[in-house]
Amino acid sequence: KTIKDKKVSQSVGAHATPLYPAPVSDFSSLAPRYRISKALLRNIKDNGYSTTTEVQLAALPILLDTRAHLLAQEQSKAQQQQQQQQQQEEEPILDVDLLSIAPTGSGKTLAFMIPLIHALVLARRSQAPSGPQAIILAPTKELASQIANEGRKLALNTAVRITNVRKGMHLGSDPSPDADAPGKEVPPVKADILVSTPAALKNAIGDVDTTSHALSQIRFLVLDEADVLLDPLFRDQTLAVWNALSSPSLRLGFWSATMGSNIEELVKATIKNRAARLSETSST
Ligand code: ADP
Ligand code: MG
Repeated sequence: KTIKDKKVSQSVGAHATPLYPAPVSDFSSLAPRYRISKALLRNIKDNGYSTTTEVQLAALPILLDTRAHLLAQEQSKAQQQQQQQQQQEEEPILDVDLLSIAPTGSGKTLAFMIPLIHALVLARRSQAPSGPQAIILAPTKELASQIANEGRKLALNTAVRITNVRKGMHLGSDPSPDADAPGKEVPPVKADILVSTPAALKNAIGDVDTTSHALSQIRFLVLDEADVLLDPLFRDQTLAVWNALSSPSLRLGFWSATMGSNIEELVKATIKNRAARLSETSST
């Protein structure tokens, strides 16, 4: 779908600036294009992945590249230099929201997991661990556990820690008293990426104190099987987790095998919302 979109975007307008970076056909070519950590590349290889699937070849460059870099093509040299300098300082990686529709079995897990691990490897280089920065939601325990396992294999020997959230886990920054064993304290989970069902995550956060709760550092929210997460059975819980995230720079990833009306509505509303917020901030 993205590849088709690429042609469309290139044929629109007089200066047909490509809005999407070139597809990547094998994982080893990620190394010269993006500063992917050696450990991550080795893990990809060791797990038997060499050529990318269709969704990966389109989504990986979009997520690994930066908007700043792409937009720079349209700007003056001076602006570009300034931007490159800023880029080196801030590493604005994974600075896009993405909606990706690709069939079951097409390799969506790797397509969102690799850029996420890459972004967090970079983040961990410049700052000490400060609580979870990414949440991946999946509709079932089994799926969440599979995603966490896949993620851990890819994050082996990197600083990035992935936790599969289960009911009863505690995500606060302080130890909490264990209700079943009074006097005993449950240590908080230390992780960069949380993989969870919406219900288990809500349970693990407990009462959401909007100013200082455990999810205040979350910058990335991935909805895997977004069609299911947004169907009537899960919708309220999914939105409750989303609404608990307060970061103004929250980035969203919707991944699904089908483009249902539930996703379309939400994506449209989100875009509208963000546009409104952008015009608010630019007018002040
Ligand atoms: P989806 O989420 O799109 O349904 P998965 O991410 O679960 O698909 O991947 C389906 C299967 O394909 C998994 O067993 C995974 O290991 C495998 N796979 C993913 N990407 C590749 C690749 N580039 N090369 C070979 N196998 C892959
Ligand atoms: Mg999947």
